[in-house]
Amino acid sequence: MAQSFFGGVHPNDKKAATNKKPIEKLPPPAQVVIPMSLHIGAPCKPVVAVGDHVNMGQLIGEATAFVSAPIHASVSGTVVAVEPRPHFNGTNMLSVVIENDYQDTLDPSVKPVENPESLTPEQLTEIVKNAGIVGLGGATFPTHVKISSGIGKVDTVIINSSECEPYITSDHRILLESPEEVIGGAKLLARIFQVDKVHLGIESNKMNAAQLLRQKIEEEKAPVAVEVLHTRYPQGAEKQLCQSITGRQVPPGGLPAAIGCAVFNTDTTAAIYRAVYQGMPVIRRIVTVSGSGIMEPKNLECRIGTPIAELLNFCGGVSEKTYKILMGGPMMGNAQHDTDAPIGKCTNAILAFAADEERTVEHPTCIRCGRCADVCPMHLQPLFMYQYERKGMMEELQAANVMDCIECGACTYICPGRLHLVHSFRTAKQKINNAKAAAKAAAEAKAKAEAEKKKED
Ligand code: SF4
Ligand code: SF4
Repeated sequence: MAQSFFGGVHPNDKKAATNKKPIEKLPPPAQVVIPMSLHIGAPCKPVVAVGDHVNMGQLIGEATAFVSAPIHASVSGTVVAVEPRPHFNGTNMLSVVIENDYQDTLDPSVKPVENPESLTPEQLTEIVKNAGIVGLGGATFPTHVKISSGIGKVDTVIINSSECEPYITSDHRILLESPEEVIGGAKLLARIFQVDKVHLGIESNKMNAAQLLRQKIEEEKAPVAVEVLHTRYPQGAEKQLCQSITGRQVPPGGLPAAIGCAVFNTDTTAAIYRAVYQGMPVIRRIVTVSGSGIMEPKNLECRIGTPIAELLNFCGGVSEKTYKILMGGPMMGNAQHDTDAPIGKCTNAILAFAADEERTVEHPTCIRCGRCADVCPMHLQPLFMYQYERKGMMEELQAANVMDCIECGACTYICPGRLHLVHSFRTAKQKINNAKAAAKAAAEAKAKAEAEKKKED
């Protein structure tokens, strides 16, 4: 078994509810609501208007910056609105609403490229960019940016099949049901980065997938090595995965590219394969629907833009006692208040809770046990960072490297005092980023004013 990383926790993985359930196709809804931001970076600009007919796979939102990713229609039909609609991040976001004609008429732009074996790394990267591929493990960072900034620097390509968050089994099912897409995508990544071998990291609780992949890799003589990793949260965090596989540590404030690594999620890798060999952009998502509040937990293939409510209904609805619905896993997911919000490229799970999972107490109290520091995979001191955040001590927070917090939630999970640790670090990071943006804007305004004054003189 591969090496490991510092800290981490061992929550009950709760995957048994869905890990043997094949992916079912959710019937596409009457309307899809597709937000113009489904990625990290600049939102897209709609390129369709009310009344337009669109085909499945047609571009409907164009990227407005390098760090952005185009967005495509997930059904064919008529655009009935281009307006702000509820987004899964809790805001209202400009969205394209398409009335489904149930024809799934494929756009002529969706076609395999000719001679894929002859494409250069740059041409392959362009295909990835045009297909709107982003980090589908949840990070949603545009994949073409990660590739183009890594070419020439990266000597180790890693496929992240850890899927370490409890309940989630969508990547596990992709590995079992479409191993050829993942292996095919890994081969393309090997060509793009010109490496002899790609590493695929998978946790030891998915041995059936690891064995199947090894068999397929052997049959194909594919340049992929399956590395079985300890089942420990957050094994799937990029920096921890790099350390487990290579033994190298990402320096504080750095990215995996700083140690020659590039990490791609399982479905992202499969999406690269589909973009090249089928011409298919990202228009669907595999979602695990599970948790104590779900009547029939399932793995579903859903069109991007499908309202959360449709997934819940297809799974028999939610228990009356449901008190919380999450998008994503229990450690890093976001609470959803409106089930009209659509699923996006990042949605790997919808969880509903109705039992005694809630750990909130009326008066969270630190007992100074130090367990939060013991489990922090980034070697941080959560207890002190929490106190600094509560007291608004921003300089001390920065000195404590709060910006290196990967928001994994391991400290919150282990804390016997039930402090809302990760929540306070998210808030702190947001405040620091806002202050930096304000300082930059002020400096730019000052420089502009001085330049204008000089011109007048
Ligand atoms: S784990 Fe919780 S109670 Fe223990 S030191 Fe950290 S913040 Fe305090
Ligand atoms: S949420 Fe941040 S501080 Fe807490 S364990 Fe994870 S990396 Fe450490």
